[in-house]
Amino acid sequence: MRYLALSDIHANIDALDAVLAAAHTGGFDHVLCLGDIVGYGADPNGVIDRIRLAAPVAFVRGNHDRVGAGLDDAEGFNPVAREGAIWTQRSLTAENREYLTRLVAGPVLVDDLIEICHGSPFDEDAYVFDALDALNALRAARRPLCLFGHTHAPAAVTLSRDELGDESTEAGSVLRIREHTRYLVNVGSVGQPRDGDPRAGFGIVDTERREVRFYRVAYPVERAQARIREAGLPDALAERLAVGR
Ligand code: ZN
Repeated sequence: MRYLALSDIHANIDALDAVLAAAHTGGFDHVLCLGDIVGYGADPNGVIDRIRLAAPVAFVRGNHDRVGAGLDDAEGFNPVAREGAIWTQRSLTAENREYLTRLVAGPVLVDDLIEICHGSPFDEDAYVFDALDALNALRAARRPLCLFGHTHAPAAVTLSRDELGDESTEAGSVLRIREHTRYLVNVGSVGQPRDGDPRAGFGIVDTERREVRFYRVAYPVERAQARIREAGLPDALAERLAVGR
């Protein structure tokens, strides 16, 4: 089985379309969605429509999906994120808001190899930034390969005989899933990368070959920026897309 893993799309339809086009070229069977499909970006309805068509076989919600759906307030967000979240709440169609409210908290077990979560398997809102965060996440995971998002930066941490390791997440690199090793993997953000590379990130997990392939694709950033400005969203949300921060 080949799974297309998508995380942190953040209402960026231009990035999502580029990712879907690239992924279809390589081929995949099913979609895994790791949450934060809305927030920050200017086309939440367009993105939800695409995702509904793609019909993910496993889907977890992100913090921005909860706020966008009105399940949570935006009090914990910084002012720019809050403005984006309130704009999102007002912009969603009733049908798409309802779709967001039905998304579940992670982790979700996909098969014998994979589980997915938004932040961490022990807390959907926890960030995995450092080695201790990664260790706690790996210990909580119930499958050899735990995919996560939320930080908007690719990462691949391994745990083998109580020792942590790091694997490459460079575009084009392939991570092999070995026996007796646990993996915590972030394939990057589709719609708002924060690792200094503005290209959209995604991954393909091949369960027969036991590998994860990391991808980055360029997309028309100016188009996404123009949508943000036309919507009257904070300019900082447009600017950060060009620098991948
Ligand atoms: Zn996010």
